[in-house]
Amino acid sequence: MANERTLAIIKPDGVEKHRIGRILARIEEEGFSVCAMRMTRLSTREAEGFYAVHREKPFFGSLVKFMTRGPVVLMVLEREGAIAKWREVMGATNPENADEGTLRREHASSLEENTVHGSDAPDTASFEIGWFFRESELLST
Ligand code: GDP
Repeated sequence: MANERTLAIIKPDGVEKHRIGRILARIEEEGFSVCAMRMTRLSTREAEGFYAVHREKPFFGSLVKFMTRGPVVLMVLEREGAIAKWREVMGATNPENADEGTLRREHASSLEENTVHGSDAPDTASFEIGWFFRESELLST
């Protein structure tokens, strides 16, 4: 399998609960390289654009409010099969359905406040990485 990149986010609930270090440790233990990382607070425009595919969903307004309520950590992760592997490490969207040992099972408190984000396919990964990072900011290690 080829090296691949995915966008990961530690969402506001993860930052508020001081889980950045534990999540980063897990990322490195699972064999990912961090190519880019930035802590920031998303503007409403950034969050709405990032989640544009969910614009028609009933939870869209609430999701944007949640994602903008405090700082997040944006990261680009690289490894073989990064997209599928990061989704496996995160676990199911709803922490109640997430497998034992996944980040969402361990840290998340609800379907919405589920601590981490990961791209779900190569085309979304490339859109999401480009939404937050310039090509020159992606550093292979
Ligand atoms: P993901 O790819 O596992 O992050 O899941 P989705 O792309 O389906 O949803 C994006 C994000 O919206 C999720 O990670 C949750 O934070 C939130 N979300 C998804 N479904 C719901 C829902 O039914 N209600 C609420 N309040 N939030 C949701």
